[in-house]
Amino acid sequence: MRKGFVIQFIRQYAGRLAGIFLLNVVYVLLTIFTFLMIEPFVKLLFRGNLENLSPLSSYVVTAIGGIIPFGSLQQSMALIIVCAAVLYFLRNLAAYSSQWVMAHVRSDFLYKLRNQLYNKMISLPLGYFTRQNKGDAVTRAVNDAQEVEYTILVSIHKFLTDPIALLCYLFFLFYIDYQLSLWAVLLMPVSFLIIGFLAHLLKKSSKTYRQRLGVLLSHVEETLSGLRVIYSFNAQERAYRRFAQHNRHFHQNQKKVYRQSYLASPLSEFLGVASVMVVLVIGGTLVLSDRSSLSPELFITYIALFTQIITPVSNISSAFSDYKRGEAALDRIYEFLSIRDAVEDTLDALPVSEFKDRIDFCDVSFAYSDAEVIKHLNLEVKKGQTVAFVGQSGAGKSTLADLLMRFYDPTDGEILLDGVSVDKFRISDYRGLFALVSQDVMLFHDTIYNNITLGRDFTMEEVVEATKTANIYDFIMSLPEGFNHIVGDRGTVLSGGQRQRVSIARAVLRKAPVLVLDEATSAMDTESERLIQQSVEELSKQCTVVMIAHRLSTVRNADCICVLDEGRIVEQGTHEELMAARGEYYQLVIRN
Ligand code: ADP
Repeated sequence: MRKGFVIQFIRQYAGRLAGIFLLNVVYVLLTIFTFLMIEPFVKLLFRGNLENLSPLSSYVVTAIGGIIPFGSLQQSMALIIVCAAVLYFLRNLAAYSSQWVMAHVRSDFLYKLRNQLYNKMISLPLGYFTRQNKGDAVTRAVNDAQEVEYTILVSIHKFLTDPIALLCYLFFLFYIDYQLSLWAVLLMPVSFLIIGFLAHLLKKSSKTYRQRLGVLLSHVEETLSGLRVIYSFNAQERAYRRFAQHNRHFHQNQKKVYRQSYLASPLSEFLGVASVMVVLVIGGTLVLSDRSSLSPELFITYIALFTQIITPVSNISSAFSDYKRGEAALDRIYEFLSIRDAVEDTLDALPVSEFKDRIDFCDVSFAYSDAEVIKHLNLEVKKGQTVAFVGQSGAGKSTLADLLMRFYDPTDGEILLDGVSVDKFRISDYRGLFALVSQDVMLFHDTIYNNITLGRDFTMEEVVEATKTANIYDFIMSLPEGFNHIVGDRGTVLSGGQRQRVSIARAVLRKAPVLVLDEATSAMDTESERLIQQSVEELSKQCTVVMIAHRLSTVRNADCICVLDEGRIVEQGTHEELMAARGEYYQLVIRN
């Protein structure tokens, strides 16, 4: 996939890149014309006439003389200077215009790439984002994307403009004196070889650099989300030491990358100047020995034009090293983009807006990687029922709920909604049938009202009703500013129970046919537990409820309790039936 990147990029911006190419040709030609002014100027200055000009310069002088005739010596010199200045201005205008077009290409590319990366992020399997991967994904979306823009795009720009500039300059240099120019050409491969070696080193260290940055960001993200734990265990010292250790690794590697990339520019510049020196020595000897047709004035023009090839030569060689550095980032981006989505819509996916009768799990198995965590499971969820999953931690309760909402597809068997396999439906439609109240309630630094509506349009009556069903209305009214009260970042001013009730209100407001409730595992005061229990009971009258229950006290009234053990339903029934059976459920209740 990465191999086709350059072709794909060129195809995408073909028109603009062609424009950049043409502007660059104009730029190079204008540079050459400007430098051709040197010979007549020096002739006028030292010899006082324009006799025996080289054919190229005499062509330029005739062209100018055709427009504005030459007058006195001083006027002629001033005329040449003005012409050179105008040509130089136009040359720089061409250079700026080419950068102006490139600015669009670079920023548009980055804009689209970041959107693509973000889109990927929100369609990846839930399990992908372990703490480690979170920081890494951020690095890929922000830094790596920027790095590709800085390095690869700039290199493509250089590859597009500098070789042609180099060829044009060389053509004119050979035209002026091929003997001298042969020397110049012989010196070039040496520079390419030296810079090429540096490029190879750079790619290796910049891959490590990006990985280490990912680790560093993951650590910061982990610390920020676990500040409470860090404070309560007085673990600042340990957290700091771990961070400092990662930071030290990062710093050592960063130093290496900086040093290597800083070397590229002075090195290629030195190589360029060294070649000018060599040309000066050889050319000077030729001029002095009269073995060359070069006049001293033309030799000065030659040297001036020769210095112009330093930039394209050094650009081409640094483009190689930049490209190599960027490849490390590009690899990481493609690696990320090629991760398979957890679930994908089929081409002929059906719309769905209703849950009419039942959802069936038919011989469903599921594995995150190798080991199956759900094994040949059969289950029926009837409309209007309250179904609870109970069992030891790790039994597969959350996975089952994730499969129900199609966050993953089963590895075997199928799930049917009213008799139709759920993978036939449009994912967004199907997920719209569920409202999830999850354990870690995400609250924003905003008013309670906005936290409940999440920016959608609901009437105040609807919001009040939802908060009453969620048993949080009285609490909100007791706040100084009621619904306009601002909850702190991540809802830290609210207790665990209050946060979960805010989240229930959110779900109620969506009026989805099925409510999936992942009960908070953290201990709750009995009052909070009672209020949540009450609101779930109220809700179970209005819609189908699927509960992942961590506390057995909350499931007594469920229509169907499924006891899970190692990915299998080992018992199923009402509280009374299961207690009477004296099996697994009975044991769990007794142990509690
Ligand atoms: P429960 O909700 O009953 O505690 P889970 O459904 O969370 O159980 O987990 C069932 C099994 O699947 C456990 O062994 C758990 O370690 C494993 N598991 C859960 N999530 C992932 C994941 N994203 N990647 C790999 N294994 C996972």
